[in-house]
This record gives sequence, structure tokens and C-alpha cells, in this order.
Amino acid sequence: MKKLSLIVPMYNEEEMIPLFFEKINEVLSQIKNYTKEIVCVNDGSKDKTLELLKKYKKENNKIHIVSFSRNFGHEAAVAAGFSRALGDVMIVMDADLQDPPEVIFDLLKKYEEGYKIVNAKRVDRKSDSFLKRTTAEMYYKLIYKMSGKIKVPENVGNYRLMDREVVDKINALPEKNRVFRVLVPFAGYKTATVEFVRAPRPKGESHYNYKSMFKLAGDSIVSSSVAPLKWPLKWSLGIGFLTCLALFIDLILYICHRCN
Ligand code: UDP
Ligand code: MG
Repeated sequence: MKKLSLIVPMYNEEEMIPLFFEKINEVLSQIKNYTKEIVCVNDGSKDKTLELLKKYKKENNKIHIVSFSRNFGHEAAVAAGFSRALGDVMIVMDADLQDPPEVIFDLLKKYEEGYKIVNAKRVDRKSDSFLKRTTAEMYYKLIYKMSGKIKVPENVGNYRLMDREVVDKINALPEKNRVFRVLVPFAGYKTATVEFVRAPRPKGESHYNYKSMFKLAGDSIVSSSVAPLKWPLKWSLGIGFLTCLALFIDLILYICHRCN
């Protein structure tokens, strides 16, 4: 039997943990043809997240905990989950049920059809604030434009399924600031997409402030494209050209002045 690993980054999710396990256990109990594990990555939470995880782990041997000494951020938590997970197939999902657990059935269906990557695409984000939707739209448009040959799909976040082979390839990449929505298409492989409606967060608050969104956008640009490395060269060539042009005009004016 194949093993399915769920990777769930958690930062200050004490309010969500009981709801999350209730819902996820219900869904996992309906999946019979896999053994399962839930790798919860506590990303340096300051609330009772770790305490609660330890409590739930005592009652549920599918739960494994990775715990950070401080908050390293969502992407680092996903990376740690990938290193710890033992599954033949892995699914990354948020702890706040905005990634509806029922979508796991669709992801596995596509996997069983032979796709090594199955993206979960957000088709309706009405549950997110206007500002969040607008910035997300700008982010995906920018990354799509920048990403050159490897197209980073729009409205696909971290919720997706990957075969072990893909995860091993991604783990072997030397990138330090990892952005999975960029690295996964970079790895290649046969990819399918399932669509879902982004659910509202039942409890707690989004941890993405503008600083972390800018960081994500910056990391995404540098890991998806070498274009920023070429910008200084292009700019200096442009400035050099304009300087030469100005000197040339200056020279002509000087000659004309002398002739008169
Ligand atoms: N998260 C994390 N570290 C962080 C911020 C968030 O592990 O520094 C987790 C969080 O607990 C959740 C997921 O990443 O499981 C998505 O975070 P959030 O819901 O705050 O983001 P949003 O849905 O608003 O984009
Ligand atoms: Mg969320």
C-alpha cells in the first residue's frame, strides 16, 4: 500500500487545530487504499499550537510534529515538512481549512490517472478581502510574466499533490529562499489541475502582512527568473548610450558654434 503524507504548516493556529483535525480525520477515514501520516510543522508559534499538537499526537499515531525554534515563515515550514515526510505521495495544505480537505479526493483521483503533480487552483476567492484578491492577482500576473519558459500557474498556491519523485527533485535543489509555487513547475513532470473554491478562514487571522507578501513576491521573482540579474547591465548600457549621445550633441553644438 502506498503512503500518503499531508504536510501542514502551522503558525499560531491554536483556534484552528481542533477544527482542522476533526475535518481532516473525517476525510482521511474515507481514503482506504493508502496508509496516512499528517506532518504538522509548528513554525515557531507563540500560542498553544505546539501544546495542542502534542496532545492530539497522543491520541492519533498518524500525527508527526516538526517544530521550529522561531518563526521561519510558511515556505520554510513547507520545506521542513518535505524533508520529514515519508510518503510516496504528498499533499501540502494550510491548517485553516481555506484549502478544503474534500479536494484531496480529486487530487488523488488525478494522481491515480498517472499525474505526478496535481495543482489545486483557486477559482473563486470571494472569501478573501478585496485587497488580498487584488494583490494576489498582481502577484500572479507579475510572476507569470517574469517566469519565462517555465510558466508558474496563476492562482495556484501551495495546495497541491506531488509524487515522491518530484519532492526528491525539489529537495535536492540548492535554493535557500524556497518558493514552492515556483519550484514545482520548474521540476517539470506531467501536471494536472483540479479547481476549488477558496473557503473563508473559520477562526483566527491571516498571518500574511504586507511585509511578508512583499518578501514572497521578491523571493518568487528571483527564484523564477534571471531577468533581475540582467537589469543592471541593461540599465548601465542604456545610461552609457544616453551619455555618449549627449557628448556627441555637445560636440556638434561646439563645432557649429566655432564655425559661426
Ligand atoms: N503559516 C506558517 N508560517 C507563517 C505564516 C503562516 O506556517 O509565518 C501557515 C499558517 O498557519 C497556515 C498557512 O501557513 O496554515 C497559510 O497561512 P495564512 O492562512 O495566514 O495565509 P493566507 O491564507 O492568508 O494567505
Ligand atoms: Mg489562510
